[in-house]
Amino acid sequence: MKERMERLREMDAEIQKLRHIAAILHWDQETCMPSGAVEERSEQIALAEGLVYDRLTAGEVGELLAALGVDAEHPEGTAGAEAMGEVDRAFLRELGREHRRKTRLPRRLVTEMARQTSIGQKIWAEARRRADFAAFAPRLETILSLVIETAECLGYQEHRYDALLDEYEPWMKAAEVERIFASFRGPLTELVQRIVASGRSVDAGFLHREFPVDRQRRFSERVLRAIGYELERGRLDESAHPFTTTLGRSDVRLTTRYNPRNFGSGIFGTVHEAGHGLYELGIASGLRDTLLADGASLGIHESQSRMWENLIGRSLPFWRHFYPAARELFPEALGDVELDRFYHGINAVSPSLIRVEADEVTYNLHIILRFTLEKALVAGELRVADLPGAWNEESDRLLGIVPPDDAQGVLQDIHWSMGGMGYFPTYALGNLYAAQLFEAMGRDLPELSEGLAHGDFASPLAWLREKVHVHGRVYSAKDLCRKATGAPLDPSHSLRYLEGKFAAIYGV
Ligand code: MG
Repeated sequence: MKERMERLREMDAEIQKLRHIAAILHWDQETCMPSGAVEERSEQIALAEGLVYDRLTAGEVGELLAALGVDAEHPEGTAGAEAMGEVDRAFLRELGREHRRKTRLPRRLVTEMARQTSIGQKIWAEARRRADFAAFAPRLETILSLVIETAECLGYQEHRYDALLDEYEPWMKAAEVERIFASFRGPLTELVQRIVASGRSVDAGFLHREFPVDRQRRFSERVLRAIGYELERGRLDESAHPFTTTLGRSDVRLTTRYNPRNFGSGIFGTVHEAGHGLYELGIASGLRDTLLADGASLGIHESQSRMWENLIGRSLPFWRHFYPAARELFPEALGDVELDRFYHGINAVSPSLIRVEADEVTYNLHIILRFTLEKALVAGELRVADLPGAWNEESDRLLGIVPPDDAQGVLQDIHWSMGGMGYFPTYALGNLYAAQLFEAMGRDLPELSEGLAHGDFASPLAWLREKVHVHGRVYSAKDLCRKATGAPLDPSHSLRYLEGKFAAIYGV
């Protein structure tokens, strides 16, 4: 048994190295590669990813897993697992899961999906530019049918959507997401309505004054260092869409984007990605270079970025500490803005059309809308042709606004053109996990707010390291949440947090 386990670990270590190599190619492409190299690069990446696929699906992996008692149908239950350590058990569970998912998809389907989504993204971008859904619809039909075929190949018990969700939020089911969102939706829309009805408008105009980019860079790096992101084990660069990528055990890189006329975009992009980066850098050294050196799920990963970005990064204590430095760096823009006005400005709430620009409160409604529609699409209950109408109706119901055109509605996100049905819920789950973790952290650290105001970011980071980061993927998101907070995921924590914060800002 020991030898089989060692052989699997050896194979996995190489798979992880190949993944890091592919990640370097991606990172380079997004940050500094000359545009002329794009075709050659995509071939290089495809080769590296093909090698990962071949190794994961190798017959030897399946044989070793079976010999070690892993049930191909249910890798979460390994025969004789009680005798194993927690880490070995998790290793087999996750390797079994990946092996199963990869081997179930015929190569033809994988290749066809890659081809259709690569064309699909181009057509989507053009359709969005012209606000012309009809131009994208036939391609979306094709992609949707491939997505459905993928779900059928992967298998599921209750909803077809389960098979897709599992890619991003392992072990969670659509019915669970539905239940969580259903109890969240009512109180959340009610809070938004109260804020809108208050008629109170928060001034955020000063955030769009002139903020020279070189000074924004300095400010971002200063904040990164202060919150504990080690620039000796990472980097901060710039890209069109901010992201975080892990290139090795001591190389976790972030990107952000600066806009000279939008202060929030750069700094909150940086702090968001730092949350992802701190997670990756905090994984126990014993797990590094294994498939367990990853987030428990995308929802948990997003909880880390959203916590740093919003619960910490848009809090008053955080800016009590950083605002003097920001004012010193940007005297022209912020010289006449007092701390309270700044804090209100970065927390302005208003129902808007575009998800990526949405505030902390309404953001979740954008996700509920997408989850509702994509679940219906995948179930065959909603036709692609009816999608724009359904989108506008849901938008009216949830946000009280109807997009004037499809570019600002159903065409705004890239996800569906990439076949990424099942991804969206993880954004809102991230917010929910973040609030629940933050509340638990506050119980353990009664001086948290005081500490943040004095620049003590080491205490919350140490808490997150111990409760979340070190474990990597050893626990499922569900188990991790229970262990860290003492309870299963419950949206009431997020509601309490949003109520408390925004009722105070808007006096509602
Ligand atoms: Mg993120």
